[in-house]
Amino acid sequence: MKEVNQERVNRLIEGIAGFGKSEKGITRLAYSKEDFAAQKWLLEQIADLKLTVTQDAIGNTFLRREGKNSQLEPVAMGSHLDTVAQGGAYDGVLGVVGALEVLYMLQNEELERPVEVIIFRAEESTRFGFATIGSKIMAGVGSPEKFSSAAKKNEASFEECLKENGYNPEDYAKAVKQEGCFKCFLELHIEQGKVLDETGEQIGIVKNIAAPTRFKIIVEGIADHSGATPMDFRRDALVAGAKLILAVQEAASEESENGTVATVGVVETEPGSINVIPGKVTLWVDLRGVDSESIQNAMESINEAVSFVAEEDSVRITVDMLTSDEPVPLSEDLANIFEEICQEKEISYRVMNSGAGHDAMHMAKLVPTSMVFIPCKDGISHNPDEYASPQNIAVGIEVLAAAVMHLANE
Ligand SMILES: [Zn+2]
Repeated sequence: MKEVNQERVNRLIEGIAGFGKSEKGITRLAYSKEDFAAQKWLLEQIADLKLTVTQDAIGNTFLRREGKNSQLEPVAMGSHLDTVAQGGAYDGVLGVVGALEVLYMLQNEELERPVEVIIFRAEESTRFGFATIGSKIMAGVGSPEKFSSAAKKNEASFEECLKENGYNPEDYAKAVKQEGCFKCFLELHIEQGKVLDETGEQIGIVKNIAAPTRFKIIVEGIADHSGATPMDFRRDALVAGAKLILAVQEAASEESENGTVATVGVVETEPGSINVIPGKVTLWVDLRGVDSESIQNAMESINEAVSFVAEEDSVRITVDMLTSDEPVPLSEDLANIFEEICQEKEISYRVMNSGAGHDAMHMAKLVPTSMVFIPCKDGISHNPDEYASPQNIAVGIEVLAAAVMHLANE
């Protein structure tokens, strides 16, 4: 097998970063002209791999190299090229460029199975309010109609966007894949957290992908005059909300051993005036973990706190569930293969969970799936300062190539 060509990998990552770049970072939203241009440019750069290029009904792209036996299910790898607004150069791009580099490394190898690189559409939720749309549709989860339901005012919905780009939303079912369609799916990604960067380990082998439970806690009190209302006559929604913010923190802290985390990321206060007691407060909560029972425990604690505070502060509190997904376990067999590869090559590694969602969680519904993380500087991601060193990138690609070499002959 050939070695990782770091110069080519850097050139491709930097080249893609040029699409959507400004002083504020890289903005290459799903299905934007920058997104299409980046993919077109990348395919031109790797034309010498002579891959067969196909697209499904919503624009997920498949790049295929034949195997000795073209009837066998291909080994699949891949990730995404779209970014958040003002994002960085590595999230998603690493997994696509890394997978293509693996094909260069294996160019002179005879492999039993075909190998495919998938470029998923619309992994980031920035444009349509839903994440991992491309892989969700492949896995039969959701429809263009559903993914249009969170469309922003005066902006194209997902369905309109498909039409604008020459796809027929009604054909989406043609993009749904059968279970077992691939031998397996492997995704290389930056960690997007700081564990590997701080421990100095080179590789993270992902065991579970955490699933977000997202909900709003709406507290309704009474918006009285801040000067004319004595303290014991108040029904202050923000004071009650503040107690709930602490309750959310405590609920997750009690479950932190099991990897559960919770965040109140948004607080909306109405009417939001210095001389009016807050009458209504909405807290947006993101609760995540890899252990369903632990997430449930945290949710129960939060619900108990809701009842308690409603009673104590004489306010009305409702919990409005937005999403509640199950955590996704990845393939243990594939994780073992990655562990053996790291041991053989004396590469330091850790078996860990992914706090962020990825296309791999939907691919796991179709085929055995695994993910490999490499460190990113200070854990920074979805930010222009996102950075992974060429050395760490090379190690990640080397491990991925070894796994593909093994699996494509299995
Ligand atoms: Zn990503």
